[in-house]
Amino acid sequence: MALEVHQFTCLSDNYGFLLHDNESGCTATIDTPAVEAINTALEEKSWKLTHILNTHHHFDHAGGNEALKEQWGATVVGADNDAQRIPGIDVRVRDGETYEFGASAAQILEVPGHTSGHIAYYFAADGISFVGDSLFALGCGRLFEGTPQQMWTSLQKLMALPDETVVYCAHEYTQANAAFALTVEPNNPELVKRAEEIDRLRADGIPTVPTSIGLERATNPFVRPMSEGLQITIGLKDAELVEVFAETRRRKDHF
Ligand code: ZN
Ligand code: FE
Repeated sequence: MALEVHQFTCLSDNYGFLLHDNESGCTATIDTPAVEAINTALEEKSWKLTHILNTHHHFDHAGGNEALKEQWGATVVGADNDAQRIPGIDVRVRDGETYEFGASAAQILEVPGHTSGHIAYYFAADGISFVGDSLFALGCGRLFEGTPQQMWTSLQKLMALPDETVVYCAHEYTQANAAFALTVEPNNPELVKRAEEIDRLRADGIPTVPTSIGLERATNPFVRPMSEGLQITIGLKDAELVEVFAETRRRKDHF
């Protein structure tokens, strides 16, 4: 367990994450949602920024790349197949590769769907993952640049990680996601229980992020197209899983 994560809120509903490798002293920011908030967090922890690990090109994820790179001389890591949209990119990574961050190793997973070049970082030794806007607590990213098939394949890739994997997603969307999830899987007792817990946490202003792969597998309708209850609710009993996923996503878009 060489890695330490410092999580903080920024913009309206983004989370910033600093990732510190104790052995090497390297510190990464996962994406660059807000330069000032990231600098404040670095100051609080007395860490020096050495890396920027980008999940995708959206402004609330890569908008601070250039300013932070200039200020700190940080190395910018991003998706090879979206390099032209990642400002200041230094290191291009691809699916299945390992990126050495200090003394730690990140497995790169290409998880397109929200954008065509979205990636996730999985630190197997520490059991933590940074998934940007691909998977959310009880949700998944909107399909801005991908097909349902692409996103479903991406989500399956993430669901193949061990249940106990800690999942750091980039937004606090959980309460709204729970309200939707309950409309498509109202008879999932674990979901009902989780939704109540989320309401309690949010009433006290407590983050619902991080989540875990196991918790999402049990409660997140976007990774549960195999659920008979979900299939029946949306009128697609025994349909292809990708069709069930697509209809769930479509309903959420209009919720
Ligand atoms: Zn995004
Ligand atoms: Fe975002």
